[in-house]
Amino acid sequence: MNIADYKGVWVFAEQREGELQKVSLELLGEGRRIADKLGVKLTALLLGNNIESLATTLASHGADEVLVADDKNLEHYTTEGYAKVICDLAAERKPGILFVGATFIGRDLGPRIAARLSTGLTADCTSIDVEVENGDLLATRPAFGGNLMATIACPEHRPQMATVRPGVFAKITTDPSKCNIEKVEVKLADSDIRTKVLEVIKAKKDMVDIAEAEFIVSGGRGVGSKENFKLLEELAAALEGTVAGSRAAVESGWIDGACQVGQTGKTVRPKIYIACGISGAIQHVAGMQDSELIIAVNKDETAPIMKVADYAIVGDVAKVVPELIAQVKEV
Ligand code: FAD
Repeated sequence: MNIADYKGVWVFAEQREGELQKVSLELLGEGRRIADKLGVKLTALLLGNNIESLATTLASHGADEVLVADDKNLEHYTTEGYAKVICDLAAERKPGILFVGATFIGRDLGPRIAARLSTGLTADCTSIDVEVENGDLLATRPAFGGNLMATIACPEHRPQMATVRPGVFAKITTDPSKCNIEKVEVKLADSDIRTKVLEVIKAKKDMVDIAEAEFIVSGGRGVGSKENFKLLEELAAALEGTVAGSRAAVESGWIDGACQVGQTGKTVRPKIYIACGISGAIQHVAGMQDSELIIAVNKDETAPIMKVADYAIVGDVAKVVPELIAQVKEV
């Protein structure tokens, strides 16, 4: 392998049922910065069936180029089908870096591509950078139970791959007229895909993805009970937001595991994050520290969350939250 032949930054633009995933646009935002730093092209890879219209959205979120693989065999995500198309393209065009969102699809697809291309992958990253002199990717992720952040490089192989958590980077808007949209030939035989999708069952409409929410009221062990969590739901409803929780709250059965914030939960980046009865353990903070505004409600003024918070309210959740609800309703 001649590493110098591998250039450009690629982002897998994940779509489900014709809807682009937010993490793909966030990755284009950060990919733009990385591509500019290296002076190379930023390419979005769009796979699916009848998805060409999504290419213009990618064009206006930072991409220099969108490669569209539109084929009936790509209508539903399958590891084999998607991995084959991306590996064929990568073998032909030789990207230096390939980013994939750390969604359940990306976490499945990324390692398969890396194995087929005999390259390395740093999973579940929370920050990425590059060394300009040699184009080496520096991918950072929590390690040893979140007690330290490890920066991992894969200098001997190309493309360098990383899956990146949703909610970590910001989207950008760019002029779409500068982007080149190219339809690529899909070389997929039916025998390439051994998995058959029989039915797609959509998630319940009322289940809000916390990674997408703008206002989050999050509860921890200090909330005390499932019953008390209703107070948080009321505050979230008044803010037109959603509820989330710490791992302690999830393990107590007060809130669904899909709503856990943190290292083993989701990374969120809402406009406002209200942490109620949460101590602020490093594993929790890793998932919410990039929120635009953090308000902490805790009866212990020395709790670590108070240091992360923009506003700290020292008091009992059971007393403070009803007051907040009344204030919000007044506005
Ligand atoms: P506690 O730490 O028990 O804090 C409760 C807080 O509530 C205290 O600060 C207390 O002062 C306050 N309080 C009590 N009563 C009241 C009241 N009436 N009013 C106001 N405040 C009150 N945790 C996560 O959250 N997300 C993760 O993804 C995650 N991943 C992990 C991964 C690993 C490998 C490990 C080892 C741990 C992980 N954890 C995670 C667990 C984490 O270390 C903490 O144990 C957890 O976050 C604590 O949750 P908590 O803040 O709700 O509870």
